[in-house]
Amino acid sequence: HRSEEDNYDHFFKIVLIGDSSVGKSNLLSRFCHNKFTLEFNSTVGVEFISKTLNIDGKVIMVQIWDTSGHKKVRAITDAYYRGATGALIVYDVTSHITFLNAQRLLADLWNHGDPNIVVMLIGNKSDVRHSVMVSTEVGKSFAEKESLQFVETSALRATNVEKVFIDIVDEIYRNRI
Ligand code: GDP
Ligand code: MG
Repeated sequence: HRSEEDNYDHFFKIVLIGDSSVGKSNLLSRFCHNKFTLEFNSTVGVEFISKTLNIDGKVIMVQIWDTSGHKKVRAITDAYYRGATGALIVYDVTSHITFLNAQRLLADLWNHGDPNIVVMLIGNKSDVRHSVMVSTEVGKSFAEKESLQFVETSALRATNVEKVFIDIVDEIYRNRI
C-alpha cells in the first residue's frame, strides 16, 4: 500500500553541511518556504524538509537535511551521511575560517559518504559586499581543483538559491539515468 506522499519516481537525500551560522537553515527556508530570518536560531540536532520537484516529467522527492555544526552532532555523522545522494557544503564568504572548515568537511565527506555523492560548494552571504574574506576566485579555484560545481548565493536576497537546489537535483538525476 502506497500513500499519496509515496507517489514519486525518484527519492534523493541531500545534506546541508558547513559551520554554524554560514546560513544553511536560511538557504533551506528560502528554498522551501521563500522565507528568511535575521535571527540566528541555532539548529538543534537534525531536521529535514521534503519537497517534490519535476524533471523530465518525473516526480523527484527531495529530502533536504539540515543540522547545526555543533560538536555534539559529530556523533551522528554517519547517520547523517547515510544514503545521501547529494551534499551542499556551505561556507560564509565573510568568514575565512568557514571556508577552511568547508575544506575539512569535504575530506570528511569523501570518508563517510557514498563515493558517487554529488557535492556542490556554496559561498553564501554574497550580498555582503564590504567584508568579503573569501573572494569568488578563491572559492572557484578550490572547487575546480576538487571537480565540484561552485555557486555563490544570498539567502537574504534570494540570489541563486533556487538554482543551487535545482542544479544539484538535476545532476543527481542525470547521474542515475
Ligand atoms: P546556520 O547556522 O548555518 O543554519 O545559519 P543560519 O541560517 O541560522 O544563519 C546565520 C545568520 O546569518 C543569521 O543571522 C542569518 O540571518 C544570517 N544569514 C544567513 N544567510 C545570509 C545571507 O545570505 N546574507 C546575509 N547577509 N546574512 C545571512
Ligand atoms: Mg541552522
